[in-house]
Amino acid sequence: LVVLDKVNKHFGDLHVLQDIDLTVHEGEVVVVIGPSGSGKSTLCRTINRLEGFESGSITIDGQELPQEGKALATLRADVGMVFQSFNLFSHKTILENVTLGPVKVRGAKAPAARKRAMELLERVGVAHQAEKYPAQLSGGQQQRVAIARSLAMEPRVMLFDEPTSALDPEMINEVLDVMTQLAHSGMTMIVVTHEMGFARKAGDRVVFMADGAIVEENTPEEFFTHAQSARAKDFLGKIL
Ligand code: ATP
Ligand code: MG
Repeated sequence: LVVLDKVNKHFGDLHVLQDIDLTVHEGEVVVVIGPSGSGKSTLCRTINRLEGFESGSITIDGQELPQEGKALATLRADVGMVFQSFNLFSHKTILENVTLGPVKVRGAKAPAARKRAMELLERVGVAHQAEKYPAQLSGGQQQRVAIARSLAMEPRVMLFDEPTSALDPEMINEVLDVMTQLAHSGMTMIVVTHEMGFARKAGDRVVFMADGAIVEENTPEEFFTHAQSARAKDFLGKIL
């Protein structure tokens, strides 16, 4: 579904993505891990075209990423992204946050968008907060709204960039539970996270990045117990 072929990108002298080859199949959950600065966020942002790249190709369902305009808006709707910071619209209610995209980008009618939004808010467990504003919700609740907001666009694939790393410990699991449910529902997902429990429960594959390159990939079980490369062993030694 998502295919990166020899993708290269620099920030000035820094070769932040080096010959990245990555194929994510329909329904697959790929967990991306690696040290700080290894290029994980840049990889997500490049797939979503928040960043450009210099060579190689990225296709989604066989289609090249559009550079701009309406095609790009559609691509962004097809590729949902959830960030570390929740990025909700602070002056809009929870319900409005979830209905805005479908109405503006997908051309949904307001009543249908509201009905769908309430179903999604129900699914992530915050339907009773629909009329509140983001600041009135906990971090974990806001992040679940952010997930519902992405899902409202009916994305083909969801990107998560450390969605729980800004949360207090007691809120991490409620977000991971929603993500695990989503993974089991067949959503195609690329998830940057160091949450090993999630990787084992929901991940089909772990991709380990270091210094802008994919160093190693394997099933979660194999990767966490028998990492091959010195870089991966060193990294796991620090976080486990
Ligand atoms: P972390 O685990 O800390 O989130 P990461 O793996 O997500 O790290 P990136 O944010 O992708 O890493 O950054 C990769 C490298 O690119 C870092 O060295 C970073 O300083 C650099 N970088 C990221 N964004 C920019 C930018 N807009 N301009 C210049 N350099 C950047
Ligand atoms: Mg990052």
